[in-house]
Amino acid sequence: MTPYKISSNESPYPPLPSVLDAVRDAVGDMNRYPDASMIELREAIAQQVGVSADEVVVGAGSSGVLGQIFSAVVEEDDDVLFAWRSFELYPIYASLAGARSVQVPLTADGRHDLEAMGQAVRPTTSLVIVCSPNNPTGCVVHADELERFLARVPDDVLVVLDEAYVEFVQDDEVPDAMAVYRAHPNVVVLRTFSKAYGLAGLRVGYAVAHPHVAAVLRKTGMPFAVTTAGQVAALASLEAAPELEVRVKELVSERARVVDALRRQGWDVPDTQANFVWLPLGADASAFAEAADGSGLAVRPFDGDGVRCSIDVADANDRLIEVAARWREQH
Ligand SMILES: *Cc1c(COP(=O)(O)O)cnc(C)c1O
Repeated sequence: MTPYKISSNESPYPPLPSVLDAVRDAVGDMNRYPDASMIELREAIAQQVGVSADEVVVGAGSSGVLGQIFSAVVEEDDDVLFAWRSFELYPIYASLAGARSVQVPLTADGRHDLEAMGQAVRPTTSLVIVCSPNNPTGCVVHADELERFLARVPDDVLVVLDEAYVEFVQDDEVPDAMAVYRAHPNVVVLRTFSKAYGLAGLRVGYAVAHPHVAAVLRKTGMPFAVTTAGQVAALASLEAAPELEVRVKELVSERARVVDALRRQGWDVPDTQANFVWLPLGADASAFAEAADGSGLAVRPFDGDGVRCSIDVADANDRLIEVAARWREQH
């Protein structure tokens, strides 16, 4: 039985040959420092999203860039506002900065409660993070509710839209993040090459930020944080967009199949727009993870809350459907 790791929302596919070739060529120069300005990659990203290169900040994964954002804007005793449950890193960064995590509970169906988040903004709030699709529930925010929320946030509060899974979204009510970015000088869009692009091991992510914000973020970045291999892999991946799109489509269609099967078994699966599904198991999260492990599936339990399972190749997804069915029979 092939074991599968469906706990980190990685791409299940091997690197594309063109990307692997670019990296192989690049590592021959490993005695040299990487290009600190990352200008070629920044220009390619800028062209893809429709901004200028000085609005793009590349870092060691979007986690790395988010760390730069915290260093730039969050001070001791500030409030950092985000939904909960959401990405595990947010409260970790907040506590490293000596700030307070203000966690606004998700709605019962796993979505951001932007109304309640709007009410939770205070004079001490310096950073707001909106994760869409939300890790771990997979739910997205919609354009109208996000606009209403942003209208309530003061201009001196930075709002990060964490779109780590944007490539997998199919819901047409989602905001066009770049249009939102252009309309709001305090909005930063965060994206990554780790998920849909399959470069999790090479650590490349980026922020799109207005020039005055981008300039500060560059100062808080570690010099040479992104290796030459990472830079060339990201560039080659942007060039391989059509091939990567085929893979994303495959995962999106597998996602629909898995969600459908789980719901037919009676699971209350939120409407995921990402490459994972959320099983709201509550106190049974760890027990389910153990059962899955016994069937060769490493899933991600969040104690007392639920289990996140990445969409993988069909064989792994079939296994997840079986494990979930067996669990329901026995509980
Ligand atoms: C995976 C993930 C990231 C970042 O991953 P990196 O590998 O650091 O780019 C950021 N935000 C969310 C919500 C994620 O799930």
